[in-house]
Amino acid sequence: MTDDEDHSNAERKMQFLFALRSKGVTDARVLTAMEQIDRGPFIRGYFSERAYEDMPLPIACGQTISQPSVVGLMTQALKVTNRDKVLEVGTGSGYQAAILSQLARRVYTVDRHKRLVTEASEIFRALDLTNITALTADGSFGLPDQAPFDRIIVTAAAEDPPGPLLAQLKIGGIMVVPVGQSDAVQRLIRVTRHETGFEYDELRPVRFVPLVEGLGRDG
Ligand code: SAH
Repeated sequence: MTDDEDHSNAERKMQFLFALRSKGVTDARVLTAMEQIDRGPFIRGYFSERAYEDMPLPIACGQTISQPSVVGLMTQALKVTNRDKVLEVGTGSGYQAAILSQLARRVYTVDRHKRLVTEASEIFRALDLTNITALTADGSFGLPDQAPFDRIIVTAAAEDPPGPLLAQLKIGGIMVVPVGQSDAVQRLIRVTRHETGFEYDELRPVRFVPLVEGLGRDG
């Protein structure tokens, strides 16, 4: 790498972190994780040049990798600690799971498209992110074999927080999920499970692809 390339990479990284901060991502651990995990490898082909812009981008199987600031805000809302076992529903590119892997003890991530799971697993292996397990499954049923979870993050929009996911959350656990009709702007909800029941906080408007039942045709 030439000095010039080195310089422009450093500048791009600074702008990326600045954009995150200006959109409200202020948690130091989350910012460090997002500094450490390069978004580039998670975007293949034509759009890879735009990896450092704060934009959602298309990935395989007609899905999208979320906007970095939304990844940051959702991760921040999840309040992950290094003792936590986390479930992500909607692996997509694997970027969100990679960020979580820096903050949690263990990350399970599931997607209904086998191709996305295979491609994300290859990136996790290449980056030596050994605390992530990616599986092909319909995440609306959670992951009963590994339940309960300290944290659950859903990165596709559900009409309501899915019952099996609520049931797989530990007491004291937190789930972040976009809720609403798939063709409209949805509300990002944080659910906290207390001994006595569930507490719901509405965080912000978001736009996600829908949570779809069953496996994709490729998986
Ligand atoms: N978190 C991803 C972006 C997710 S896009 C990233 O960081 O790139 C939403 C993903 O949810 C898509 O890949 C889609 O296939 C997946 N999805 C939709 N419904 C699902 C379901 N019922 N179970 C598992 N995955 C699902």
